[in-house]
Amino acid sequence: MRLILLGPPGAGKGTQSKRLAGELGVPHISTGDILRQNVKEKTSLGKQAKDFMDQGLLVPDELVAKMLMERFAGTDVKKGFILDGYPRNINQAKTLDEMLKKINLDIDLVVYLDTSESVIIQRLTGRLVCSNCQANFHIKNMPPKIKGICDNCGGKLYQRTDDKEETVRQRLEVYKKEVASLIQYYEVRQKLSRLSADEEADIVLHKIINLVTPKP
Ligand code: AMP
Repeated sequence: MRLILLGPPGAGKGTQSKRLAGELGVPHISTGDILRQNVKEKTSLGKQAKDFMDQGLLVPDELVAKMLMERFAGTDVKKGFILDGYPRNINQAKTLDEMLKKINLDIDLVVYLDTSESVIIQRLTGRLVCSNCQANFHIKNMPPKIKGICDNCGGKLYQRTDDKEETVRQRLEVYKKEVASLIQYYEVRQKLSRLSADEEADIVLHKIINLVTPKP
């Protein structure tokens, strides 16, 4: 299964992708996670991407495309993947199609996680991320057992710099500019399914699994 999870920042793409990847036994490819790792390791890509990310702006398409192509060279993507955070605009959607064509693959399904703005702001401004394993928590909705510590690996939890309310609003503006044309791109190709992602994570996961599991 080659799946894209599409939706605004805060729709739960990361949380759902991780859980789905476990359910389906395919890798979770998050362009945001790969970029953050590069920033953390101060690679050349990380240095070029950091300022854009801190401001809630998109990293230039060429940089992200090159990074993703390298990821697609991994043998694990042969069994499928869940793509989270890419594409973010039409240019990236076209690039993705070309990249996959080169390796004789295609996208099976795009799931659009429809989420209301108040839910987005509440989720993102309270989000905590593990600095070690990238697991997500939430100050109110999903607090860690020990304050500031990851339940899974004991890593330190932090708030992403781009999860401050002002940057969240900037990220939403960037998102809104591009989303309508992206939705149309996949609708025309009959790949798009929509669902409401305002509910809690277990319910949304169940709905996605229903969509991606072939009916008998
Ligand atoms: P995310 O973790 O998906 O919310 O992404 C965090 C930040 O990484 C975004 O606000 C962008 O600055 C950058 N980013 C992630 N994916 C992309 C992408 N496909 N194109 C450009 N920038 C991206």
